[in-house]
Amino acid sequence: AAGALVYVGYEIYLMRHPAEQEVPEEGKKTLVVLGTGWGSVSLLKKLDTENYNVIVISPRNYFLFTPLLPSCTTGQIEHRSIMEPVRNFLRHKKTAVKFYEAEATKIDYKKKVVYINDESEIKGNVRTSEIAFDMLVVGVGAENATFGIPGVREHGLFLKEVGDAQKIRRRIMDCCETAVFRDQSPEERARLLHMVVVGGGPTGVEFAGELQDFFQDDLRKWIPEIQDNFHVTLVEALPNVLPMFSKQLIDYTERTFKEETITIRTKTMVKKVHEKYIEAESTGPDGQKITENIPYGLLVWATGNALRPVVKDLMMQIPAQKDSRRGLLVNEYLVVKGTEDIWAVGDCAIANYAPTAQVASQEGAFLARLFNNIAKTQAIEDKLSQLSDLQSKAPNKEERDQVFADIKELQKRLRRVKQMGPFEYSHQGSLAYIGSDKAVADISWLTGNVATGGGLTYIFWRSAYLSMCWSMRNRILVVMDWAKTKMFGRDVSR
Ligand code: NAD
Repeated sequence: AAGALVYVGYEIYLMRHPAEQEVPEEGKKTLVVLGTGWGSVSLLKKLDTENYNVIVISPRNYFLFTPLLPSCTTGQIEHRSIMEPVRNFLRHKKTAVKFYEAEATKIDYKKKVVYINDESEIKGNVRTSEIAFDMLVVGVGAENATFGIPGVREHGLFLKEVGDAQKIRRRIMDCCETAVFRDQSPEERARLLHMVVVGGGPTGVEFAGELQDFFQDDLRKWIPEIQDNFHVTLVEALPNVLPMFSKQLIDYTERTFKEETITIRTKTMVKKVHEKYIEAESTGPDGQKITENIPYGLLVWATGNALRPVVKDLMMQIPAQKDSRRGLLVNEYLVVKGTEDIWAVGDCAIANYAPTAQVASQEGAFLARLFNNIAKTQAIEDKLSQLSDLQSKAPNKEERDQVFADIKELQKRLRRVKQMGPFEYSHQGSLAYIGSDKAVADISWLTGNVATGGGLTYIFWRSAYLSMCWSMRNRILVVMDWAKTKMFGRDVSR
């Protein structure tokens, strides 16, 4: 039919206009999903929306493919290539899903209500509202950890959202252009061109690698005056970077950084951030603590995740959550402990796995199966109760036997549907780009816990990330961005 959803292969659909979607039937349970990150979106992708009245709430009306976000900071990839509008994938659903662009400011778990706030720059007449739910999925992610270190929020830049990557891109160019301004002193030039990254997890390492590439491939050719002073330093409090990788890959990363002339400062903890320098405490070989000031032009702060206030507030309301510090404790079916109708996925949930995109998306897919199953179970149980009515009213033995056979068949199906095991994470491996066309990979499924690094791994990294992109549209845009950079270099305009 004209306008209906038609799958033509290769993830290309002929459009379904939202106006042609079915509306949820009266009496369906309201399922509210908070967030549009890895967890929530992977739930929405697989959820049969005809079973519920689904409402999605997020301050971001798009999904962001975060693994390629570090590439956006240098213009290697344009940010819109890794964004997918929520409305674009929701319109492919058979039954319409409501979306509100707003932040959930409070969840009242006893009243079963979410309070939301529209933070958009354009102020409508209505800015706040409340949404009642029967079932709630909390997939709001986390915010940047600062550990209360003074000056981080004022002077550091984070790398979590599209806006962060854009700010970093502008700041890099600002530092370069200001450093070569007429009569700039040598000290000030050196400061402006010192790019400091705090946090040696995958975010910090990937960003440092991308930034050094930017300098090597483009910046030093376009602005030769910065050649001698441009320098990237990675600061890490622990004795090594990338703690989740094997020793062999950590060594490989550290060697590669040395060749790329990126300085790694391990066992160095940043204590305070000032406008133009950081105060860091390092531990010498004799165990002695040394405090020093490190000047910077750009400071990128990548020290991991912290709880969002809305999650903290929810935890305070539930006695079973009071002792948790890192996030919402969930059971093996991802139900928030101490509640019955609230589930949590992704970085805001604590399910004994690292807070990664891989975990979040598997959790989301699990919940979709669980909710589809709950709906199927309900439908079979309704049918069963109708049949048992029918059986008692059946006029003759033949019909009674027929209904009895149908009941048996349905009971068998019900047992099958109800047999859903708990969530189990299947780790597909870890990958990280480390600059100069090299990547490291810890992959368990390929050849039994193989740890590889180097150029071939880089090709693998590229293809893996490409295949993980949300849509064919994203994939084409990313490939075009890579080709564009190869041909013309990165765009150095601010
Ligand atoms: P992280 O938590 O992995 O690393 C943060 C690092 O910052 C830690 O090593 C910590 O010791 C250090 N640190 C903290 N405070 C410090 C201070 N004051 N001074 C100096 N160093 C300090 O953070 P991340 O890299 O943002 O990653 C967050 C999560 O996302 C992790 O679970 C990670 O595995 C995942 N992730 C994975 C990939 C990938 O697989 N390619 C990429 C990005 C993020």
